[in-house]
Amino acid sequence: MREAEKIIRDETRYVLGTYRRPDFVIEKGHGCYLYDNEGKRYLDMVSGIAVNALGYADEGLSRVIAEQARELIHCSNLYHTAGNVKLAQVLVENSFADKVFFCNSGAEAVEGAMKLARKWALKTFGCEKAGFVAFTGSFHGRTFGALALTDREKYRLPFEPLVPGARFAHFGDVDDAESKTSTNTSAVIVEPIQGEGGMNPAGPHFLASLADLCHRKNVLLIFDEVQCGLGRTGRLFAYQHFGVIPDMLCLAKPLAGGLPMGAVLVNQRVAQCIESGDHATTFGGGPLVSAAAVEVLRRIRRTSFLQAVRDKGEFLLERLKQLKQRFPDNVVAVRGLGLMVGVELSFEAAPLLQQFYDHGVLVCTAGERVIRVVPPLVINKGQIDTFVQTFADILKKKKS
Ligand SMILES: *Cc1c(COP(=O)(O)O)cnc(C)c1O
Repeated sequence: MREAEKIIRDETRYVLGTYRRPDFVIEKGHGCYLYDNEGKRYLDMVSGIAVNALGYADEGLSRVIAEQARELIHCSNLYHTAGNVKLAQVLVENSFADKVFFCNSGAEAVEGAMKLARKWALKTFGCEKAGFVAFTGSFHGRTFGALALTDREKYRLPFEPLVPGARFAHFGDVDDAESKTSTNTSAVIVEPIQGEGGMNPAGPHFLASLADLCHRKNVLLIFDEVQCGLGRTGRLFAYQHFGVIPDMLCLAKPLAGGLPMGAVLVNQRVAQCIESGDHATTFGGGPLVSAAAVEVLRRIRRTSFLQAVRDKGEFLLERLKQLKQRFPDNVVAVRGLGLMVGVELSFEAAPLLQQFYDHGVLVCTAGERVIRVVPPLVINKGQIDTFVQTFADILKKKKS
């Protein structure tokens, strides 16, 4: 029996079956390539779902992690350490934020923002405002609070009741958001570019009108940039494209270069309502992940790095638009910003994945009909070309 078959057989036996995976076993990575345990190479257009911004086996990042591991991995939030302070300073100095709370994942960042919003409301109004407004097509995570703000029946229904008080407005429709906002609303949460829901960038005026709505109704505005933040769009934060500033911003996926880490960035309005003991987590902002994140940010926030992401993003979008012209019956739309792009097909996307794997390319889906393209930010144009050429070969075969 092949080693891969044996591993997959044992996985079926011992690991809870929450994931459906293809029939190879990934062993290592280098640059923008992953290798399975039989030596087959895959060009990676997924990057661990928008996590591995610097690709695999990055020299600088590996060195920082190894050196920090020799010093101190964890000592809890009972004690002061320097790494999380340095990281918070970088995040604050390069964003709208005044303070940062560190956690361990995207869902936890959203949960944290929800709790901070309720605390803000309680402090500000002296009464509970437990409600939240989220949007159609949203994805904020799988824990009870984050799931309550996630518009996906399949994820929600088996686990209800979720955190109460969430209402959904149509993504892009600020009037609908206004009608769903009441005196009981503490915050509105939105992804400036929806990921999981199909790679949908907010329209040019939507976020601005939403900020105006929140201002008029005295409600907090939360941006979930877990997927679209940290250089993915060619700016350090996606909100910087839109010129709209939130009260809180959630980060995770690429923050610590593949180590689990999340963060909630908050302004002074929120920060002043928070006291010691209000929220906590054992691992959040630990020395190892913080050191990694400082290195990730040092690299991705360079002007030349972000400019390169914008250039490569435009190139990718352009090439995919040519693909749409060539296969108008198969490709319905191509959209995105920077290296966060979706290709909407006229048919279900998941069955195409195996063909990409056969061609040595990894992609994933976002919703039913969208191929999601979120490669490492260090990808080059030749690799982008290879991906688009593979896509064309697959569609050509589908046609004939
Ligand atoms: C992935 C994602 C989350 C959840 O992050 P986890 O680390 O999987 O909990 C939340 N929001 C957005 C926009 C995401 O893409």
